[in-house]
Parts: sequence; structure tokens; C-alpha cells
Amino acid sequence: MTLLHKATERGSDVIPVMRPVLGEEEAQAVADVVRSGWVAQGPRVSSFETEFAARVGARHGVAVSSCTTALHLALHALGVGPADEVVVPSFSFIATANAVRYCGATPVFADVDEETGNLTPESVAAVLTGRTRAVLVVHQGGLPADVDALRAACGDVPVVEDAACAVGSVYRDRPVGQGAPMAAWSFHPRKLLTTGEGGMLTTDDAELAARLRRLREHGMSVSAADRHAAEVAIVEEYLEPGFNYRMTDIQAALGLVQLGRLAAMVARRRELAARYHELLAGLPGVRPVRDPEYGRTNYQSFWVRVSEDAPVRQGELLALLAAEGVSARRGIMAAHLEPAYAGHPHVPLPVTERLARGSVILPLHHELSEQEQRHVADVLARAVDPALTR
Ligand SMILES: *Cc1c(COP(=O)(O)O)cnc(C)c1O
Repeated sequence: MTLLHKATERGSDVIPVMRPVLGEEEAQAVADVVRSGWVAQGPRVSSFETEFAARVGARHGVAVSSCTTALHLALHALGVGPADEVVVPSFSFIATANAVRYCGATPVFADVDEETGNLTPESVAAVLTGRTRAVLVVHQGGLPADVDALRAACGDVPVVEDAACAVGSVYRDRPVGQGAPMAAWSFHPRKLLTTGEGGMLTTDDAELAARLRRLREHGMSVSAADRHAAEVAIVEEYLEPGFNYRMTDIQAALGLVQLGRLAAMVARRRELAARYHELLAGLPGVRPVRDPEYGRTNYQSFWVRVSEDAPVRQGELLALLAAEGVSARRGIMAAHLEPAYAGHPHVPLPVTERLARGSVILPLHHELSEQEQRHVADVLARAVDPALTR
């Protein structure tokens, strides 16, 4: 596989936290779309939907412009509105909570499990009320949430899966997304499989999929692509107020090539994660993320939790890593600590706050070398055990 990385994109010697896997095949696929003259949503979006849905074990895929718009559409299709509450983890990228606000509803934060960073049946049950209209479960950083247990705890309340990071992850021997009433996916380059920007909703419900297709395209009864392809003139109707959340054929062409790389990408990330586990084993107060007993993560994010009594805090650790040419990130954020949620009522979220303040995301990308991983582990070791620098 030829990889396209010009010297300028590599920058200096900094080890990046993430790097998309993009090759000559992607460049060619995009060029083909441009030459075809059809760049908007069309046949490639349709193929990408079919192939992606098959890969995650769902009957239907509806491609959209991002996972954020996918989450909004999912909640909108469920009828979530101003009087409603939707349970979400605060421990997630802020788009999860914001999608609830787009519907005029109230995000209700629930705490997460210390080991997985995911919602638990208990934390969700503690905040369910008569107004709960849906629960948004996140597979955080690709680590599968225990959706069977969560669904059981939610009873009749629909569970929507925010699977933004989780393509290629496995839950109880099936792909994450299989059996989900609705799952939302992201193709941002920070995730595994990229289309530049882009997202998808998957579902097994044909009627729901048809409605989601209309809603992403202004509520039109016939898609623009179908109208264009028809031999007789079709006049479309606008059945309900919709949105423009379409994906383009340029993005879908990229996605189709990326899908072919998925298995190799996941295998490579798991191999690199295993090496990190070896290198970090025994470091005092450092706990790296690992597979839950019921599934396998794709390691979209490799985070380590640094214990409260370690000699460095998150900010210092990030500064130390940066000074040593390692581009790390603070761990998954806690939405309720951001100004956008100032004053927003919530139950105590002690685990969320501990994880958000005490974890960092280490570099993990397909070209990371053993030497680079050793360097990262070494900086971390010196940070948590200052005796090593003497
Ligand atoms: C990245 C991410 C999103 C947003 O995805 P976009 O495609 O960038 O809109 C939503 N939820 C989670 C958990 C994410 O990690």
C-alpha cells in the first residue's frame, strides 16, 4: 500500500496522536468521482450505505454529513422535543449532549464505569424519569458499552447508540451496531475510517430508514439523485420539514476504499495497543484502557488513567510529553465541566470527573514505530516516577 504523506504534513519530529490511513487508492477514487461529473449524493453514497451497514451487521445505512447530524436526526425521528429528557454520558465528546439540545430537549447526565468509561445500567437507572424519551449510549473511544444490560435497564425507553468511535469493535462476538435500533457513526479523520467529514445512521427498520433518508434531504419524497436518474419527470413533494444533512459522492468514494482497509486498521491498532500494554505494565499509578470482559475495542483512543497520588497532574503530563515531542491529548472530556453547560443541573458525576481530569490519550496510529512507543512509555515512566530521572 502506498501512503501519501508529504514531508510538510509530517511536520517536525513530533509524534502525532492520530494519523488517518490514506493511500493512492483513495486519491484515485476521489478523482474518479470528479471525472464522472456527479459529485453530490448519488450512486456511491448508496453503495457506501449498503456496504457499511453490512459490515456492522445492520440491514440499512443512511449516510449523513457527520455523526453529530446523525445523532440529531436519530433523536428527531424518535420525536424528541422540548418537554423531553434524554440520558447521555457527560464523559463524551460534547456533540453527544448537544444533539439533545438541537431538539430543544434536556440532556440528563449519567455517570460512567471507572474501567470502561461507559454508562452502566445502575447509573442510567438512577436518572430515568417519566420524561425520559431516549438514552444515548456511547461506545467511548471505541470501547464497547454493555448494550444488552443497558437496554434491559431502560425497559421501553429507546436506546440510541453513539458509535462514533466504534467501527470494527466487537460486542459479545458480534460487531458493535448489530441489533441496534439505531446507531450513529462518524467518519471524521480522528476516528478510524474517514471520509473527511461524514456520518451514518444504521438500523434494521426499513420504514425508519426511509424516513431518515427523507429527513436528511429536506423531507423530499424522491431523492434528487433518483429524480435525476428517472426517465420521466418526477415532481417531488416535501412531506415534513427536513434538513440538509447529505453526504457527497466524493466522501462516499473515499469511504468505500476505507472500508476495505478496516480489518487491517483494527488489527494494527490492537497490535500497537498490546505493545503499549507491555511497555506500561508495572508503571506505578498508570492504568491503560483495555478490553472489557464482554468485547473487544478497536482502540480508536488509547487512554491511560494516572492515579490521583501520582506526582504529575494531567496538564503537567501533557506539557512533559509535548516537550519530548509527543503529541498527546487530555482524556475524554466531561461535557458538564464546559462553559456550554455551566449551570446545567446534574447528579453528582464523580467517576466522570476523575476520568476526565486524570487521563491522557497517547499517540496511536498505523505508522507508530516501536521506537516511538518506547519513547512515549519512557517519558511517561519518568513523569510518574521522578526517581528515574535522577
Ligand atoms: C467524534 C464524536 C462525535 C462527533 O462526530 P462528528 O462526525 O465529528 O460529528 C460524536 N460522538 C462521539 C462519542 C464522538 O467521539
